[in-house]
Amino acid sequence: MWLHSLTVGEARVTSLSDGFLRLDGGAMFGVVPKNLWSKLHAPDEQNRVALRINPLLIQLGGKNVLVETGMWDRGGEKFEAIYGVERDTTVFDGLRAMGLAPSDIDLVINTHLHFDHAGRNTTALGRPTFERARYVVQAQELHDALHPHDRARASYIPEIFEPLAEAGVFEIVEGEAELLAGLSVLPLPGHNLGQQGVVLRSEGQTLVCTADLMPTLAHAPYPYVMGYDLYPVTCVDVRQTYFPRWAEEGAIIAPPHDPRIPFAKFEANPKGGYVARPLH
Ligand SMILES: [Zn+2]
Repeated sequence: MWLHSLTVGEARVTSLSDGFLRLDGGAMFGVVPKNLWSKLHAPDEQNRVALRINPLLIQLGGKNVLVETGMWDRGGEKFEAIYGVERDTTVFDGLRAMGLAPSDIDLVINTHLHFDHAGRNTTALGRPTFERARYVVQAQELHDALHPHDRARASYIPEIFEPLAEAGVFEIVEGEAELLAGLSVLPLPGHNLGQQGVVLRSEGQTLVCTADLMPTLAHAPYPYVMGYDLYPVTCVDVRQTYFPRWAEEGAIIAPPHDPRIPFAKFEANPKGGYVARPLH
């Protein structure tokens, strides 16, 4: 089972998994030529690359925080076939292995509301899956999910967020916000306007959940942004702002979709920018 834990100061951070989805390799790597990206992620016969869905459990100060809830699982056969969904494990299996039930989660952080990140937000009855939790989302993202542009509509499934918005379950934040001592959300626009990352700082150590600003380790070079990104130039600008800071700080990086590696650190690339080196 995919279950990788480490400590960050006083916190324990565990990479969980909700299985795989498969997306077009060309769309995942934007303007990067196939003869380069296919060496990093081998495509299947449909030109798709396998991506893991990696929610994070952060245990800090007696609280259980779940960053992202996993992959939508009520899309039916056609949906599952299009996205090559494979569930070798689920976020619930991972929590159970950690001795936790969904009702033990105190705080859910939705980096954004796309179906491969917030897919387990609700039950089939439209109730919050994590019944005691506050769900933290950026105001911009909730607005854009409720009023999607046609370019982004396929990523937003109303059952994932509408019932929570109606029930007042969301804790809506604008910009950077500290949720617990040492645990903050940070706007990381570009993939869309309202995406947020998560930054954990404890006893001199730092961990960053990049959300789709850097979906896999192979996406570390500045221009390796996705065709899916709504604002690709903004992505590059935001990367150029934060990657040097995170590298300097020695931050542990947790990408949300790497198929093999849960945690990495940036290392300067002699040719410029950074490469992401696996920690495990
Ligand atoms: Zn994603």
